[in-house]
Amino acid sequence: MNPTLADIQSAEAQSLLPTYSRIPLLLERGKGPYVFAADGRRYLDFLTGIGVNALGYNHPRISRVIRQQSARLIHCSNLYYHAYQAPLAQRLAALAGMERAFFTNSGTEALEGALKLARLHGRALAADKVEIVALDNSFHGRTFGALSVTGQPKYRLPYEPALPGVRFVPANDHAALAAAIGPQTAAVLLEPIQGEGGVVPLEAAFLTAAAGLARQHQAALILDEIQCGLGRTGRPFAFQWTDVVPDIVVTAKPIACGLPLGVILARGAAAAGFTPGMHGTTFGGGPLVCRVALEFLDIWEEENLLANVADRGEELRSGLEALKRKQKAIQVVRGRGLMWGIELDRPAKPIVDAARELGLLANATHETVIRLLPPYTVTPALVQKALRLLARAFRAANRAAQA
Ligand SMILES: *Cc1c(COP(=O)(O)O)cnc(C)c1O
Repeated sequence: MNPTLADIQSAEAQSLLPTYSRIPLLLERGKGPYVFAADGRRYLDFLTGIGVNALGYNHPRISRVIRQQSARLIHCSNLYYHAYQAPLAQRLAALAGMERAFFTNSGTEALEGALKLARLHGRALAADKVEIVALDNSFHGRTFGALSVTGQPKYRLPYEPALPGVRFVPANDHAALAAAIGPQTAAVLLEPIQGEGGVVPLEAAFLTAAAGLARQHQAALILDEIQCGLGRTGRPFAFQWTDVVPDIVVTAKPIACGLPLGVILARGAAAAGFTPGMHGTTFGGGPLVCRVALEFLDIWEEENLLANVADRGEELRSGLEALKRKQKAIQVVRGRGLMWGIELDRPAKPIVDAARELGLLANATHETVIRLLPPYTVTPALVQKALRLLARAFRAANRAAQA
């Protein structure tokens, strides 16, 4: 007999460090936009492993490339060459308007490297040019550097002291940003759309102003596109909805279709800091993950996925706006492309739970926000289906609240 959900829950409760409060769902396999639980139930996945499974589950071309490459060479370390890092670096740099890349195992590891690059860039100009300006409500990862620039005290405070020299300013507050940046600033760090912070897009004017202030003070502009980048908003990178040109871009989530891969992209003086031996990683950018990422980019181009993201995104936007007119709990609907947040006047979890009961996966972030990150391959029919399930989830939660 396979272990049941209850068996696994009790085994985990005794054996894992208790970092996760998991949803009681034992997942077994996926296919396209659906994921299946051990009890046979099927879920339409509009969260996609937090924006990772952008092609849905088990895309046949990804499975094939994994089979082929895993039979040839999975890992070789960065002591040697393999064929796939350079072409992947070139393609990603071209998509982002950057020049060079460094591959990592995760988003937070890419962010760490970006902070190190920014510090080198700053210190090349002045010994005390080491500060980072970041935003309130941001999320940049769980390792110490990334945590230190994460503007949410609940994540940061238990681990203090954090990296010194970090200033936080409210999103979209020009005056606060201008006051925080100075000759001591090495970098300004922003998510063009704050993800974990509740799907909060920065105003284009704020992003432009931040880029201008960074340039004026010779600080690097680092954009964290780990969640909003790589096609999620309908352009290769979310900053490309503005005319801002960053110095460093980090991205990760969808890039290798669920295998761990992140990347730092940099240009100009900000790309000049590292020399051999100054930074590195054992696993990052191995042949298997890089080849899968190249296949992801091929599929993205051949299937014209950016257009699908933009078109389905508009359908989702208008459907969510219609839902907002019917459901008083919805305060605002925010996002772009296939990244949406539905801000409520109450906790989001009961609605997300009701949606799951009806067969739709979404998530509750920042307490009161329902977050949707559907796959880039989503069809018009599935967008409408998700909207119907979400409407039913609101009605079910309303009934439960009245009972
Ligand atoms: C997920 C995320 C991270 C952290 O990435 P990990 O791969 O979990 O380390 C950092 N920044 C943003 C914006 C993210 O969404």
